[in-house]
Amino acid sequence: MRLRPSPYIRTRLAAWFILIVAVVLATFSFAVYQLTRYNSLGEVQRDVRQRATLLAAAAAANHGEVPAQALDTEGAPDVFAQIVDASGTVQRSSASLAGRRLPFSTATVGAGQVQEVRLGEVPLYVFGRRLLADGRVRGYVLVARSPRSVYLALSRLRRVLYPGTALALALAGGAGWLLTRRAMRPLEHLDRTAAEIAATGDHTRRLRHRGPHDEIGRLAATIDGMLASLEDAHRQVQEANEAQRRFLADVSHELRTPLTIMLSSLDLLARVGTSDPEFNKTTLQDMRAEVTRMARMVSQLLIMARSDADAAISYQPVLLADVVADACRREWANGAGGRAADLVDRGLGAIGEAVVRGNPDYLEQLFLILLDNAAKYTPPSGLIEVRGHLDPLGAPERVAVTVADTGIGISANDLPHIFDRFYRAESARAHARDGMGLGLAIARHIAEQHGGRIHVESTLGHGASFTVTLPLLSPG
Ligand code: ADP
Repeated sequence: MRLRPSPYIRTRLAAWFILIVAVVLATFSFAVYQLTRYNSLGEVQRDVRQRATLLAAAAAANHGEVPAQALDTEGAPDVFAQIVDASGTVQRSSASLAGRRLPFSTATVGAGQVQEVRLGEVPLYVFGRRLLADGRVRGYVLVARSPRSVYLALSRLRRVLYPGTALALALAGGAGWLLTRRAMRPLEHLDRTAAEIAATGDHTRRLRHRGPHDEIGRLAATIDGMLASLEDAHRQVQEANEAQRRFLADVSHELRTPLTIMLSSLDLLARVGTSDPEFNKTTLQDMRAEVTRMARMVSQLLIMARSDADAAISYQPVLLADVVADACRREWANGAGGRAADLVDRGLGAIGEAVVRGNPDYLEQLFLILLDNAAKYTPPSGLIEVRGHLDPLGAPERVAVTVADTGIGISANDLPHIFDRFYRAESARAHARDGMGLGLAIARHIAEQHGGRIHVESTLGHGASFTVTLPLLSPG
């Protein structure tokens, strides 16, 4: 099921972006505002302090009297100056004060600090200095200045900063939203295509990302790789299903044919049997051959089912030559019943004493499969040979048995597949009708179960040679 596309990541990214830009902008604006305020007000305070100090210095040089023109502040209408005597009575004021009186206390003058006071509605920074003459305090000079112009400038700055910050935030937010949209678009494309692939079940389709080989490009390549392996797995499952279907059809067909033959033989026996002993004998022989074929097929199916279920088998020391000879005898008996290819087992003497650890029934089944194939795919005039040898290919503690024939052989194309389940070469189908393509798969499984292996050498039209190599339990 595909989830409804949600703009969750996009919204989250954009929200984080806007939040970060907002914090940065707010911090920056706050810092700019505070710095400007601090510097500008500091400037005012420095100014009043400087003016008062200059006036006090001028008075000291003039016997404690402030020169009249020194109080003139016409150039700076927001600066006020006042002289008071030692008892606090106003002596003189600058014209800008227009008769008003600056707040004054000897304690604040003594503190040497710039004070912030109000004169009516007007905020003021005031600083005072003592006027000395002959070592005595004659009075005080007070200088005040209104920071109104600074407040005005600050309010103008606020009027620029607030909307400016909001505008920058909106622009940054919009840009962030667009950028995340752009960054997410390839992902949305991947999501859409992947969903379409899932919906249509088209396993051959790929994302085929056309953008740069960045993180998204690499993700697309990884998904494409995954789709390729899914397609592979899907094809394998389909092939396995197809093989399974064919197998069921083959099994039913293979079992029905001998059953039909036996049923008609039984009918015939019932009708004419007892009166003709010769007929009785041949019919029973035919029925025996069919039952043998069926029994072999059922044992192959059983072995295969057991190997699929990983069922344990019992092992014992086995004289390999005996098992191979038994299989040859059984095949020989079958050959007498129809196949004329010569079976030669002259080479078994070389492994006469070789003992392997194995299951005699399974090992016999293995050689029966090889012998049966050799007989099946070799024309009546051909030859089948069974050879045993120790230390095959310089591998000590191993024993090998080769079943070679002069039959139809196997093409190079078919060779890699003949051990696959249900695989039958075209040439084999044309040559022998019966067979399900299970024999060699079972033979290889049995060889591997016994710690051995099986390999084949063959050329089309020039016979085949199958060699089974097994570990020896007791050499010689
Ligand atoms: P089948 O039931 O078809 O014999 P097998 O698994 O025993 O199944 O063999 C698989 C295929 O290997 C055969 O269909 C045939 O094409 C090929 N094959 C096996 N043995 C021989 C042989 N001795 N000569 C030629 N082809 C063989």
